[in-house]
Amino acid sequence: MYAYIAFPIANYQQFIYKIPEHLISTIKEGVCVEASFRNKNTFGFVVSIVSKTTFKNKIKSIDKIAKDHCQLPSALWKTIIWIANYYICPIGIALKTAVPLLFKSDYVPRKNIYLAITKLGRSERLLLKKKAPKQFHFLSLLDKASIPCALAQLSQEITSASQIYKKLLAKEFISIIPEDQIISSHLVNARNITLNQEQTDIFDIVIQSMKQKKYSPYLLHGITGSGKTEIYIKLAAAALQQGQTMLMLVPEISLTPQLSQKFIDTFGEKIGLWHSKLTKAEKYQTWQNINSGKCSIIIGARSAIFSPVSNLGLIIIDEEHDASYKQESSTFKYHARDVGMVRAKYSNATIVLGSATPSIESYYNAINSKFKLLEIKSRYNDADYPQVNIVDMKEGKNRFSYDFSHQLITAMKKCIQNNEQMIILHNRRGFSNICRCQDCGEITRCDHCSISLTYHSDAQLICHYCSRSYPKPQQCSNCNGSNISLIGTGTQKIELEINKLFPDINIARMDFDTMKNYSNYKNILSDFESGEYDILLGTQMVSKGLDFSGVTLVGVINGDTNLYIPDFRSGERTFQLLYQVCGRAGRNQKNSKAIIQSWNPDNVFIKSAAKLSLDNYYHMTLKERSELKYPPYAKLFRILITGINKQVVESLASNIKKQLDGQPEGIQILGPSVAPIEKIKNNWRFHLLIKADKHKLSLAYNYIAKKIGFKTFHHKVKGPKVEIEVDPISIL
Ligand SMILES: [Zn+2]
Ligand SMILES: [Zn+2]
Repeated sequence: MYAYIAFPIANYQQFIYKIPEHLISTIKEGVCVEASFRNKNTFGFVVSIVSKTTFKNKIKSIDKIAKDHCQLPSALWKTIIWIANYYICPIGIALKTAVPLLFKSDYVPRKNIYLAITKLGRSERLLLKKKAPKQFHFLSLLDKASIPCALAQLSQEITSASQIYKKLLAKEFISIIPEDQIISSHLVNARNITLNQEQTDIFDIVIQSMKQKKYSPYLLHGITGSGKTEIYIKLAAAALQQGQTMLMLVPEISLTPQLSQKFIDTFGEKIGLWHSKLTKAEKYQTWQNINSGKCSIIIGARSAIFSPVSNLGLIIIDEEHDASYKQESSTFKYHARDVGMVRAKYSNATIVLGSATPSIESYYNAINSKFKLLEIKSRYNDADYPQVNIVDMKEGKNRFSYDFSHQLITAMKKCIQNNEQMIILHNRRGFSNICRCQDCGEITRCDHCSISLTYHSDAQLICHYCSRSYPKPQQCSNCNGSNISLIGTGTQKIELEINKLFPDINIARMDFDTMKNYSNYKNILSDFESGEYDILLGTQMVSKGLDFSGVTLVGVINGDTNLYIPDFRSGERTFQLLYQVCGRAGRNQKNSKAIIQSWNPDNVFIKSAAKLSLDNYYHMTLKERSELKYPPYAKLFRILITGINKQVVESLASNIKKQLDGQPEGIQILGPSVAPIEKIKNNWRFHLLIKADKHKLSLAYNYIAKKIGFKTFHHKVKGPKVEIEVDPISIL
């Protein structure tokens, strides 16, 4: 017997090996084995098994089955094979992205140390505040936690935690809790969640399909604040009861500590958290816990869709419209929602896509009965939806300053007087986003990217694509004039302006510059919740899934920031952002308000968001997409060619276009053209778009394979790079 093995390399080829006699009964598709490959012992996965071969040369044998690396659950294995085919990528690369840990042999899991604060520690804690602030912080975290904390977890929040804990241990302020005690002492705080009628109806429908164990996709459309989380928790409890596992994806776990906390409070150590901020050791531990069945509810960001759970009963993809589900940086750019659908199908599981603003694709699938649509139309706890107003910033009489309208200032004053909280959104970080010569109009750009530089309050100009910083120029590079000024507004400038207007107010700023790690998010959000801040100011981060009962006002400084990005989804993004952020107001209170300032108050996307009119928005967007033949009415492939030498890249792009000539009916080729961002990190960028009619999908794959060859896309040689992206969500 022989096995074809895929190794984690950029090669479409699989390699044939002999299966030793004693392994014949254990080796199956999807089993991880060790074999000598290119003179090195390498892990690889068995893709197929054959009994005969015509291969003439000497065939090596598989050494052994990789130690702990058991077999991937069969549904997961099939999903990965689907990924490789669908996203045009070698199986080895798909495996490496999906299950990277399995290719590492050198890792020895570290034992976790669990710590709890002692009585002595509790009484001495405050005394440390001045003397030893780090020890104080450490103790405070343990004091706040209701169950013992893992040292590895504390290390994420405190620098040099491993030294501090030894000091505290010596003073007997903390104690080590044996791991087995934690498991036996954990409390499953099955919270008393009561669902209202609408929620109960939805719960009943979903639980029925989970019991039937057949693939059933749902789109759960609930307005913001409608209590989707409560339904999810009840469903998770039901899955556990039925002996099934559940996989829940959230856009970015660090942005949703509130949601994961609710689950942890309810299910304790049954929860496995999976996200990019975990250390390698934690990932390995979690992986083992999932594999051994200790964790049966997995919550995580995009890559958690590959967790090795078996007996999957339910997949939930919360905020399914969120762009972070799309992997943008790896060798193949998958969409976790679409992968989730396939995994659910192979697992005979139920999948629920939840959102207040479903993506156009999912909405389209729902109206075409590919998904069953579930709707919640009222807000949880009878909270009112905020009253939303658009302020026309073109009208001079409306403007208090360039960035603030009289209406917003008045509402902010009132909010402060009433001791209520507000969220201010401005989707641009930095201080000023443009540095321009007033004489000739020249805009200062990054030397390495075709991007205008953003001025930051530390007096540096920074490129948001490659992070290079530059001093502010004294002279214009074009006309040598010295009349250089900063225009445009970022969050730092807004913070300064609010500080000037309301000096006694505490502002928490949340953007890429202030949120460097997980604890930053957690601290800011919990401090805002406890009322230490009056204003939460930030970029789109403040629009995502947050739930604060004290917020009665949402202000949007400039509702237009996403509108003019040259991308077919800019309208969709604008609508989602505005609609979502408005929903942050009035979670618990009556008479809440949202104010959207705009220089384009008549724009249909802005108007629909302010009217909270989803029907209007979907109708309009689908009509536009259908006319222009964009998704969901067509399949999109993008071929991106990048390289240092502009001429070489450009001529390669036109060569590819020539290769593609003679396309069959139903397939359309656009380009080549220079990409909207023409240079990033010194690499020039050209692209071609291939649009295929929905029912011509396999024709399109065959055509690309025949004309260009898939090998072109994973070619590891020097020179320009050619990549293909299937279903791009942005074409910048
Ligand atoms: Zn100039
Ligand atoms: Zn740059």
